[in-house]
Amino acid sequence: MKDLKQFYEDLNTLLSFKSVKGEKSPDAPFGKEVAAALRFFLDKAEKFGFQTINYDNYGGEIVFGEGREIGIIGHLDVVPIGTGWNYEPFALTKDDGYLIGRGIYDDKGPMLSMLYCLKELKDSNVKCNVKFRFFVGCDEETGWQDVEYIKRKTSIPEYGFSPDGNFPVSYAEKGVFYVKTKIPEFKNFKDLQGGTVINAVCDSAQVTVTNKKVLDKVDYNKYGLTLDGDKLQSKGVAAHGSAPHLGKNAFLPLLNYMSSCGEDIKDFIDYLFLDKWGVSELENEQGKITLSPDLVKNGEMICDCRVPAPFTEKDLLSCLKKAPFKVTAEMHHEPVMVLKDGQFVNTLLNAYNEYSTVKGKPISMGGSTFARVFEKGCAFGPEFPDENNHIHEANERTKESSFLKMYEIYKKALFDLASMKEPF
Ligand SMILES: [Zn+2]
Repeated sequence: MKDLKQFYEDLNTLLSFKSVKGEKSPDAPFGKEVAAALRFFLDKAEKFGFQTINYDNYGGEIVFGEGREIGIIGHLDVVPIGTGWNYEPFALTKDDGYLIGRGIYDDKGPMLSMLYCLKELKDSNVKCNVKFRFFVGCDEETGWQDVEYIKRKTSIPEYGFSPDGNFPVSYAEKGVFYVKTKIPEFKNFKDLQGGTVINAVCDSAQVTVTNKKVLDKVDYNKYGLTLDGDKLQSKGVAAHGSAPHLGKNAFLPLLNYMSSCGEDIKDFIDYLFLDKWGVSELENEQGKITLSPDLVKNGEMICDCRVPAPFTEKDLLSCLKKAPFKVTAEMHHEPVMVLKDGQFVNTLLNAYNEYSTVKGKPISMGGSTFARVFEKGCAFGPEFPDENNHIHEANERTKESSFLKMYEIYKKALFDLASMKEPF
């Protein structure tokens, strides 16, 4: 990097904004600190000589070049700090070869790197054949209202990438559906509850026993349940909703117990929890369709369901309709897929491979990143395989050497994309 001292100074300033989503005010839809971070970032871009757009503090855009559009998107909002920090969270700290601070890798560090790389491209003599449209998000961590707003104000490029995922480069993300069905009526129980959010495997569930006699007939201890007053409780293990096999769903032992107490819920268990409809048989190179019943809300069981492209809603529905009860599927995010060996993915992959000893391959993801803002979107770094940056945790950090490597990869990617020719 040309001016590392200045870069670290700017990074320290950017990290110092406490840009956790805050109270909405007329000119700060996500709170004052988020708006201030955005203004600092766009001011910096203007000082670098770029044209910028502020979408009413919902987000921003930095534009460079002429030609076929390529989008870039990341974000300046951060998650709350939580507890357990050994350093000042809202500042840049260097310690023992590490850079530390909230947002250092998610996503302020990569964002500032991208801005500096774009400046290096502008200042070079390399001819830019494409138009970079660098979107600055402000609400990635909570509701993506920034993207919604920007999409209402302007068009979005077809191709793009987001420095807010993993290296080497993702070419696909599964679609996200919310599959819902009514909780059955029970004879001896009522008020089944459990789960906290849709996208996490339910780690705690409970049901109220209305007929205590059943407790004498079938031993709930054998099902790993505990009794608290008239409530039977079940504990599981949480995991991300896109990877239910990594967790242990707390609903299942509870429902199994209720079934053995004579409740007519065998179909409910068999389809939702034991995949009787066979959704997981729909499998391709990106993996299987997954379905995780994670949350009870308003009398319904809501499942986090992930569908790898090119499977579609139709494929999912043809499975779900096999159940003898009513099930609905509501699309939350469409599946995305970019040509795995096309020019766009290859250009990003080559930039990564140039700087890594182990050659990488394009990956697919079950989780969703800002890459899906683009019809053909890739998540591209900043996390390296086998490195833990403690994103969303205390002491978020990166090795300084990895950070600088990330910078060089982004720089090479921008320079190479700048000379890309049609068709992508
Ligand atoms: Zn992020």
